[in-house]
Amino acid sequence: MRLMDKPVPPTPTRARSAVFVTFFALTLSIVLAWRYGSVWLRRILVYLSQAAWARRLVSSWGIAWRVASRFVAGVDREAAISATRDLNARGILVTLDYLGESCTHEGEALQAREEILRLLGDIDANQLRANVSLKPTQLGLKIDRDLALANICALVERAKTVGNFVRIDMEDSPTVDTTLGIYRQLRHEAGLDNVGVVIQAYLYRSEADIEQLIEEGVRVRLCKGAYAEPAEVAFPRKADVDANYLNLARLLLSRHAAEKGVYPAFATHDATIIEDIKAYTRSHNIPADAYEFQMLHGIRRDLQEQLVDEGHRVRVYVPYGTAWYPYFVRRLAERPANLWFFVSNYFRS
Ligand SMILES: Cc1cc2nc3c(=O)[nH]c(=O)nc-3n(C[C@H](O)[C@H](O)[C@H](O)COP(=O)(O)OP(=O)(O)OC[C@H]3O[C@@H](n4cnc5c(N)ncnc54)[C@H](O)[C@@H]3O)c2cc1C
Repeated sequence: MRLMDKPVPPTPTRARSAVFVTFFALTLSIVLAWRYGSVWLRRILVYLSQAAWARRLVSSWGIAWRVASRFVAGVDREAAISATRDLNARGILVTLDYLGESCTHEGEALQAREEILRLLGDIDANQLRANVSLKPTQLGLKIDRDLALANICALVERAKTVGNFVRIDMEDSPTVDTTLGIYRQLRHEAGLDNVGVVIQAYLYRSEADIEQLIEEGVRVRLCKGAYAEPAEVAFPRKADVDANYLNLARLLLSRHAAEKGVYPAFATHDATIIEDIKAYTRSHNIPADAYEFQMLHGIRRDLQEQLVDEGHRVRVYVPYGTAWYPYFVRRLAERPANLWFFVSNYFRS
């Protein structure tokens, strides 16, 4: 268990103050969003996802876990394995994520490494159709780059021995260069080919990154991006992010990319973008096993199943663990309607 995330039994006073502060923060967020628009709501929620005080308060609040459990398979590996088995039985591939990020103590990073090693063992032992996703800051990036590199390297090496694959998630923009650097060291210096990265369509730099990564024959996941980034580095308008997503998707589906061995994963629940990619692959005779769609656990299950029925490869990102708070609040930030679901649960409880 992560040092920072030991569940603290809620005392009546703690629970009352948690309810008060969280409710205050939610109300303020909603008022500001109503006054200044949803961009501000997203910024506030992304700030709250990273604030230690908010994590301490909300994590001890039962209602929060009830809402979060829509997006998180459970708090332990057994729950994650069970969710994976169910998804596999429905023809859906999985990527498992042991929740955790922004570790500040080496012990936490080592604990995450041990848990993911065990996870790789369980995937193998249970013959699951699943790989693993991890975050560099979970493995120590904010403490020491070499610590993160060593931890991730150990995991990718273990994955290789059991014929599995590791995806390095992409976090906020200050970590992009280091993350791509770690990926390149693993791929080109350590000679590991069972590792891939993530590119975020909201960043201006992503087109140049993708062009370079295509030359390297990368396995890349393309997503829109889940953090609050300034206009200096990211498109502020959603329409521009969506347009860039399609632009980058076409680069990843180009004949040149295929010749270089690129295998793209389109991580989105955006039905319009998915339809566009389907039409593009159809009109360019790109086989369905040359790419995959990815979605998050608990979001658009109907679309996941529809794609499988149509013969597409679909992989669901299944997170588990006690450190669910930042992941959960980013899901709220992506869709303000989720916030109302949260508030209505509060009033129902
Ligand atoms: C498999 C996977 C891996 C990811 N990895 C990363 C990563 O490494 N780094 C990173 O920055 N981001 C990552 N993300 C998150 C991603 O960047 C987006 O924030 C998220 O996917 C929402 O964008 P969208 O493409 O679904 O489009 P949107 O335009 O945001 O949403 C389209 C539609 O999807 C549905 N939807 C989207 N989000 C939600 C939600 N939270 N709750 C309910 N419905 C929703 C709604 O119906 C919405 O209308 C990942 C996403 C996926 C699916």
